[in-house]
Order: sequence, then C-alpha cells, then structure tokens
Amino acid sequence: MEITLSPLSPSISKTFYSSLHELKDGERIRKCLQCGTCSGVCPFGYYMKYPPGKIIGTLRAGVFDLVTKTDSIWMCVSCSACSAFCPTQIPITQALMTRVKEEMILAGSVPAELQTAFKNSQQYGNPLGESPRKRADWATGIQPEVNILGKTKQPVDVLWFVGDYASYHPRMIPVTKSFAKILNVLGIKFGILGPEESSDGDSQRLAGERGIFEMLAKKNGQAFKKYQFREIITTDPHAYNALKNEYPALGISYPVRHFTEFLFERLDQIKPLLKKEVKTKIAYHDPCYLGRVNGIYDAPREILKSIPGVELVEMAHQFSNSLCCGGGGGGMWLDGFQWERAHVRLSEWRVKEALECGADLLAVACPYEPPRFEDATKTVPNANQLKVREIAELLAESMDL
Ligand code: SF4
Ligand code: SF4
Repeated sequence: MEITLSPLSPSISKTFYSSLHELKDGERIRKCLQCGTCSGVCPFGYYMKYPPGKIIGTLRAGVFDLVTKTDSIWMCVSCSACSAFCPTQIPITQALMTRVKEEMILAGSVPAELQTAFKNSQQYGNPLGESPRKRADWATGIQPEVNILGKTKQPVDVLWFVGDYASYHPRMIPVTKSFAKILNVLGIKFGILGPEESSDGDSQRLAGERGIFEMLAKKNGQAFKKYQFREIITTDPHAYNALKNEYPALGISYPVRHFTEFLFERLDQIKPLLKKEVKTKIAYHDPCYLGRVNGIYDAPREILKSIPGVELVEMAHQFSNSLCCGGGGGGMWLDGFQWERAHVRLSEWRVKEALECGADLLAVACPYEPPRFEDATKTVPNANQLKVREIAELLAESMDL
C-alpha cells in the first residue's frame, strides 16, 4: 500500500536527525555508507520494511515519516548485531533504533503487549505485573537463610541483584535457588534487596521507554544507598548492562559483575566441589548483552568446561556473531506481535543451530533464555531431546546441591 507523505516530513526528519547527533557517537550516522551490512546481520532484517540503513536513508532524504507510519521498528530486538558489524561503527542500536522507538511511543504507536509491560513496570516495578512484596518468595526454604537486607540491615560483601525473571518466572526459580546454594557453599557473605529491588529497566529503555527506565533506576539507586556492600553481582545480562553502562550517567555507580565473571574468578575453589559427572555435549549460547555488548565470552565457557564430563561444541553463530534469543529490547513482550508478522521465532533458529552442531544440551546465562529455548524445543522438529540449562543449574547439579 502506498503511503502519502505529510507536508511536515522534511522538518520532522531534520529535527529527529539532529537529535541523533547529540547522542554519544551519534554524529557517526553522517558516515553511513548505505552498505546494507546492518540489514544483512539483523535477524529480522529480511522482514523489516525499514531496517537501520534504510532508516538513515529516509532521514537523509527528509522522508522519515515513511518509517513512523509503519510498525517495522517493533521487529527490532535490540540485539546489537548491526552496531557490532557496521563498518563505520555507528552505534545503531542505541543511537538510532532506540530513538526511533522513543519517537513511536511519543506518537502513541505502541503494540498492546508492550504497553502492558510498560504499565506493569510503572505500577509494580516489574514487567510481569507481580507483587513487589513477593519478589523474594523464591528464597523460601533455602538454608542458611537468604539475607534480605531490609530485614537484617547487616553489611555484606556482595549485593546480588536478582532481577525480574529470576525472581518470579516459574522456570527460573529453581535456577535462582541453585545460585543461592552455590553462593552459600562458597561461603560468600551476600544479601538481596528483596521487595526493595525494582526491575533494572534496561529492556524498557531499549524498547523506547526511557522515562520508566529512569524511574526504576532511581528507585534501585535509593535502595542501594541504604545498605553496605562492596560490589553488586547480577544474574541477568540486561541488569549487568544497565548497572555498568547506564546507571552511572544517573549518578548510580557501583562495581558490578555478571555472576559468570564472579564464579570464574573462584574456579579453583569451585573445581574440587564438582563431583558429579554431567556427561553431555554442550553448546553455549552467548547472550547479546553479555557477549556482543559487554565482551564476556570466556568466563561462561571456562565454567562449563570445568564440569566433569562436559564436551563444549560451538554453534554456527558464536561469540560476537551470536544469534539473539529474541527476548531483548522488548522482544520478551512482543512475541505475539512478531510471530503474527514474520511467522518466525528467533529462539527456534537457535535451537536448530544447537541440533546441527550435535549438542545434547543448550547452556545459557540469561534468565530470558531457558523458557524461550525450552518452548522452541517443543516446536522444532527432532528437538524434544535437547535439554536447556542455565549455567548455575549445571554447576549445582554437578555439586549435588
Ligand atoms: S552497516 Fe552502518 S554503514 Fe552500512 S548501511 Fe548500516 S548503518 Fe550504514
Ligand atoms: S539491534 Fe538487532 S534487531 Fe535491532 S536492527 Fe540491529 S540487528 Fe536488527
């Protein structure tokens, strides 16, 4: 269907284009070669009417409202593959795609599922719409008891930022318990915020809701200030990314590590505890916001290799060229929207790759992934034997916890 341009398009394009130049490295957009690499590496590039390079083309031509009149932008899962491979190093994900989403939200063009996640984040402090009072319910029954800082007020070495899906999702609760048991076995003096923890807000930010992101970050910042700890560890690469790269600009700055980095540093202490053989061929999936965005590739692989009986194999897309599970940048809340349009699930593509490289088990290090990949094993032909396990779960199994 042909779209009629509004007479205002050149000025909209101009204002929007100049606003991009004000963002960090945003002026690089001027250097776009129109080479199409971004569209080529984008997992939904084949489907998008306006993939990144084409959006830049519309900005140059002064016809940006061609983009905002489609819903093409909501196919972007903020995986950062385009940014990683752009030959002129344009920060496409942050400076272009996220800004276009913000513009769409301002114009009121937001898919309903996404609106629900935003509303829940605003109202309950998490996109799932769960009660904040139940945020530490997963810890019930763990011995020694998990230290909820608001109750004990004790200083700790490590503040564990648990995250939304690790706190509430039924598939993730056993994984979260496993990690708490590992911390206990290692003798780590740790605490959690429990009901005082809010969503890290990173996915809401990448989905274009900067206002909600800032509100959530400030709430977490207020909670951090109340307690004494040396460092923060996170179970979620998105929380890790927010705390490391986004919160400092809001004056919230603490040393932070993803749990795989934290455990990797203690591998000498961990190895003698890994008694049970986990005889399996494992393919490790690099989460976008752990690998491509933050450069953590080796720690998760080294942990997996230390488990007796494990043989590590690599999928076709690996390290910086990893394929997104489809959950980032709001993708977690846009499954129905994206399926209706593309009839493809990125998680299924990844499961096929795991089968192709002969893996029996797909190992992950992000709480978005076990439910996504397990669902995919039910729909991909011959994938029902493929197991999906989080790294903490595998360690706990080998430690017999
Ligand atoms: S990869 Fe970079 S230079 Fe090439 S079209 Fe995309 S934005 Fe432009
Ligand atoms: S961030 Fe990922 S999904 Fe979004 S445009 Fe870039 S490659 Fe495509």
